Order: sequence, then structure tokens, then C-alpha cells
Amino acid sequence: MDASERERYSRQILFPGIGESGQAALMRARVAIVGCGALGSFHAMALARAGVGEIAIVDRDYVEPANLQRQWLFEESDAAEALPKAVAAERRIARINGSIRARGVVADVTCENIAELIGGAQLILDGTDNFETRYLINDFAVSRGVPWIYGAVVASYGLTMPVIPGRTACLRCVYPDLPGGSQPTCETAGVLNAIVSAVASLQVADALKILSGRPDLVRARIATIDVWSGVIRQIDGPQPDPGCPTCGLREFAFLEGACRAALRLCGRNAVQVHERDGPLDLAGLKTRLEPLGEVRTNEFALRFFISPYEMTVFPDGRAIIKGTSDAGIARSLYAKYVG
Ligand SMILES: [Zn+2]
Repeated sequence: MDASERERYSRQILFPGIGESGQAALMRARVAIVGCGALGSFHAMALARAGVGEIAIVDRDYVEPANLQRQWLFEESDAAEALPKAVAAERRIARINGSIRARGVVADVTCENIAELIGGAQLILDGTDNFETRYLINDFAVSRGVPWIYGAVVASYGLTMPVIPGRTACLRCVYPDLPGGSQPTCETAGVLNAIVSAVASLQVADALKILSGRPDLVRARIATIDVWSGVIRQIDGPQPDPGCPTCGLREFAFLEGACRAALRLCGRNAVQVHERDGPLDLAGLKTRLEPLGEVRTNEFALRFFISPYEMTVFPDGRAIIKGTSDAGIARSLYAKYVG
């Protein structure tokens, strides 16, 4: 560590829990953040400021005006340009800390690509908004013995739980099956930015322990916070369940399962469709769609307006169809216009 680094991180080095050796470990650390919305953009910003050496940020979506109330990294210009969140995050982080490597990846994490996208990470932070992706992360992390930190928020309430394979219960020990029925979501119940930072901060604190070399200090617990009622609780996590399909029986159904279901997006009247194998020629698609409606493109995506819908198509073949929450309608629009 040189003198300027010692100065930059001096307040963190002074903290005895980290110290100079912990800071040096942070600067060599590699972390992956899956989902760069409210929680993920806080994780990325905090870990970049803390000097974590390599940060991969994977997100499938683009910035919209309704994100700005709680998604800490993004600015009005990002929403005006409809930049992919991963791209906007990478640019902003380069301005926050130019001495670390932050890599934004515009992609939907699936069982096919998860190893390629986040395989090198020592730790995975959950910034997602859905259980399907969390179960996939859980399978991947447990199968490789990589720790990950679950976090979720809705309205004024949130929770977090660290998963350290071999020591703590995993997500499926606690939630064996996908929650059924209708769950409150950001779409139906809203979300306050104060709960986002509260939950994301607890996740980041556990991340700093793990990445600075003290994973033993991470307490196996479920923390719940309601910033409106003021109720904060911590309960010890259960012991790992020997009958848990993931960490007990080591059956990784979500890593091996159906990868590409159409997915409603939290907080949006929108559906993601991903039914192609391989990349898409956006220039060719633009030529085909221009006679049919307004088409706008930037270097990251193509946007097609066909009232009352709006389709954003990415080079990896995914599309986000706005204006419906019906997967059937979204699929048929994709088939009709993208093919
Ligand atoms: Zn388990």
C-alpha cells in the first residue's frame, strides 16, 4: 500500500476491525453484485469507496425516472438516456474511485451464464428483487462454497441474512420453496429509500468482514428492520438443515433447471422475455422495425414504441416489454417483432 492509499483509507485502517492488513485484503478482493437497483447500487457505491479491488455489477435493466428516489448511483441524465444500470453504475463508480476495477455487465443472470458472469467472485451480494434469482445464487454459491448475503426490502420493511456455506443455514434451509400466492412487492406496496440503505448497510458490513479476512465475525442471524415502526429485530439463524435440498442433499435444481422463464419485473408494469440463443443484430432489427413505429437506439439497446407498449431489446437477445404484466402478451409481442 502506498502513502496515498494509506491516506485515502486512513479512517478505515484506524478502525481496529480492519486495520492495514484488512485494508490490503479489501484491495485484493473480488466481489459480485447481482442486481444493481436500490440495494445493489448502494452496495456498489459503498464497496467502491471502501477500496474493494474488483467489483462486478450485473444487471439486466435500464434506468428510469421512478428509480431515482432510491437507487443511489443514478442521476437524471441516466434516466433521460435510459442507460443500462450496469453501464451507468460502472461510469459513476469510475468517478467515485478510479483506483479500483468496477465492471458493469448488462445481462440477466441465468443458470447458463452465472458461472461465466460471477464465477471469479469471493463473495456475492444480493441486489435482486425476485426469489427465482436468489435461489439460483444460493445454488451456485453453495455448490462452490462461496458466501453470499441475502437482502430484501419492500415498503418500510426489510431483512438480511448471510449465507456462509459449511457454517450457516442457506436460503433454502429457511425458505424451502418459492413463496406462493401474492407477495407484497415494490410494485404494490412502494418502498422507502431509508429501508434500502439500512438493509444494504448491514449487507455491506458483513461483506467487509468477509473480504477483509474475518468471515468468522459474521453472525449467523436474520436481521429484520422496519424504519417506519422503528422495530429492529435480530434472531439467530437456524442450524443448516441436513434435509435441505441445496446444502444438505446438494441437489442444485435451480442451477440445472429451466433457465429462461418470462419474468414480471418488480416495481414495473413490464415483463422480461429471453427466448433466443445467442446475440441479436440490433442494426438489422432497427431496419425491420422502422417502418412499423418509432425506433430509438443507443450503443447499448434498441427501443421500439408500439402503442401502448414499449420494447427495449438488448444485444444478448433479451427484451423488456413495458405496458403489460402479462407474460403471454409480452411473449407474443416478442415473437411478432423480434422473432
Ligand atoms: Zn440449506
